[in-house]
Amino acid sequence: MPVSGVAIRGQRSLLRQIREALAGGGPAQTRLDMVVRIIARSMVAEVCSLYMRRAGGEMELFATEGLELKAVHVTRMKPGEGLVGEIMKLGRPLNLADAPEHPAFSYRPETGEDPYHAFLGVPLLRGGRAIGVLVVQNRTERVYTEDEVEDLQIIAMVLAEMVAGGELITEDELKGVELAPHRPERLKGSKFADGLAYGVAVLHEPPVAPSQLLSEDVVAEEARLKAAISGLQAQIDQMLEGQHGLVEASYEVLDTYRMFAHDRGWNRSLEDAVRNGLTAEAAVERVRSEHRARLGQARDPYLRERLHDLEDLNDRLLRHLSGDGHVARELPNDAILIARNLGPADLLEYDRTKLRGLLLEEGSTASHAAIVARALDIPCVGRLHGLRDKVSEGDPVIVDAETGEAYLRPRPDVVTAIRARMDVRAQRRAEFAKLRDTPAFTRDGAKVTLLMNAGLDVDLDILEETGAEGIGLFRTEFQFMVAEEMPRFNAQAALYERVMDAAGDRPVTFRTLDLGGDKVLPYLEAEREDNPALGWRAIRMGLDRPALLRLQLRALIAAAKGRPLRIMFPLVANVDEFRAGRALVETEIAWAQRRGRPAPSRLDVGAMVEAPSMVWHLDALLPMTDFVSVGTNDLLQYMFAADRGNPRVADRYDPLSPPFLRAMEQIQRACAETGTPVSVCGEMAGRPLEAFALVALGFERLSMPPAGVGPVKQMVLSCDREAARRGVSALLRGSAGSVRNEIETLARKIYLAV
Ligand code: PEP
Ligand code: MG
Repeated sequence: MPVSGVAIRGQRSLLRQIREALAGGGPAQTRLDMVVRIIARSMVAEVCSLYMRRAGGEMELFATEGLELKAVHVTRMKPGEGLVGEIMKLGRPLNLADAPEHPAFSYRPETGEDPYHAFLGVPLLRGGRAIGVLVVQNRTERVYTEDEVEDLQIIAMVLAEMVAGGELITEDELKGVELAPHRPERLKGSKFADGLAYGVAVLHEPPVAPSQLLSEDVVAEEARLKAAISGLQAQIDQMLEGQHGLVEASYEVLDTYRMFAHDRGWNRSLEDAVRNGLTAEAAVERVRSEHRARLGQARDPYLRERLHDLEDLNDRLLRHLSGDGHVARELPNDAILIARNLGPADLLEYDRTKLRGLLLEEGSTASHAAIVARALDIPCVGRLHGLRDKVSEGDPVIVDAETGEAYLRPRPDVVTAIRARMDVRAQRRAEFAKLRDTPAFTRDGAKVTLLMNAGLDVDLDILEETGAEGIGLFRTEFQFMVAEEMPRFNAQAALYERVMDAAGDRPVTFRTLDLGGDKVLPYLEAEREDNPALGWRAIRMGLDRPALLRLQLRALIAAAKGRPLRIMFPLVANVDEFRAGRALVETEIAWAQRRGRPAPSRLDVGAMVEAPSMVWHLDALLPMTDFVSVGTNDLLQYMFAADRGNPRVADRYDPLSPPFLRAMEQIQRACAETGTPVSVCGEMAGRPLEAFALVALGFERLSMPPAGVGPVKQMVLSCDREAARRGVSALLRGSAGSVRNEIETLARKIYLAV
């Protein structure tokens, strides 16, 4: 009677035996046969078989100890067929005392498996995908112990890597085995930043290829794992305390992290794997693979979300193990970055000269990651469901942000087509470049001033390229978001000065810190809020923390060095806030003058109109301001009560709709009546069709992401504003939820290049 459990302590030696058997060389099949024999012996099993997934999804018996040898490479099961199919489907082990009793059991006479009852099968997982199944069987009916299941899973993980590394299967056979998704796939998502790109996939959260699967010294490895886990736990605890953090994650997410990080089950699985001879990195991969395979199938969005939390936690743990806190990696040329989501600062860590595109599983058009992508002119498609499971590092990938699609491993004809479209775009860009110095007048002679949104040094070169007439919105918080610690006075003043120098005579509108909402700083303590978008953010924070705001104003005044200065306050929801903000500016100017420093030669202080309350109090606001700018991103989110960062609702409402356009019309009229300069600086100003509607409503200053300037200028040059005005105003009183189609039809009549 075989004794079970012998293998537990022998796991390392088993893995070592396998290594040695492989080192002996010989044909692949012989080595594979040897491996199953060693496993059978070590697990005290009468049968050990390995099934691999063929490209079509069929499972084929690749090697066996104990079953009929003639069945090898002959026995094949259709996808989902038999116990092996069941394991592939579930992605987790099946442990049965009496296999033939199971409803999924499929009898294959050629294998001679009649006498065997006890059955344990585990998937060979790579990156959360099952690529094969490893089975042990015994005659006697019994359930395998938890330790045995764990042992077999570890062996399966090692085998999966060996198979993938070509150590166990001939090259020819390997071609027929589906190790990674290889079929071309087309995923439909949403367009976040316009453009096209073709390149190779780079995973933002890369799976660690455990080249070193087996540890040399279990005790040392355990200590290393424990140290990394404690480091991770301490870091997350600290982040929760609001002392120091890494990401823009909300309190709830962090709290879930903390729960997982301290979860005994998770820690134990990792420790077991290390005790059994894996390196700490390989242990993380093993546990991750299992979670992915299990939770990845869950339909329940809550469970899937938990999987994401776990994934992040695994990535963090790997970073702790490697001792490298950085997110970004070296990029190959023509890199397409693949991520679940990105914090606004993450993207900036990558080498922009090599980054061609960005694909996200989540996100929304108005999220700051998308805004940064647009600012950097990196084509980006988001909300690609299941993306990360479908793409492997190094896969060729197309980002089609014109249609909001991604092509994974595209067929040659698709590549040819995309290349042709890229050429057309390049030609159009060249045309836009030719327009660079042409002032933007409509056909009927109305001047439209096109400005650029910016927030970082990198934007300054682009100012020249686009031919924008100035910077209509400089998001000063970006400097804060990309920094590891709070930028001090000198750093702030230096950036503002560089911006003003680069802009020369062109005006720059500096917006004071717009933090809070989805822009959370790791080093700035922030309380947990149920509704951050409606919470303590922007000017509210500035007025409550006047020291922070005053320091920034002081830096702006110092940087101006007596030149004209334009300052704008974000999210003014009440005229008193603007009054208070303006008073601080004056206090700071007086402060500078008392010290003999020059005051700006001209000072313009403006407010952003992005809280709906202001639309009905413009009569009070406008006389106190020198200018206003409409932040349509926020105005939309507040008017439609739809969180701009929540993919489910963010793009549900159309700015080209009667209620929104009427609000815009009201703002424009109030400004025209009082002679207050007004611009629009939300993302819609950079989209030709939306910009067309704005011009029709009478807006004459538009500030937009750099890539919008060319197309919008082309629109302006070919547009008849008076005809556009008549057409659009007729649509404002309609009863439709969206008038996009009607505006498009109108635009086509009035100008051609929509
Ligand atoms: C806006 O809300 O439209 C805006 C321009 O500001 P931000 O996107 O930075 O909130
Ligand atoms: Mg805003």
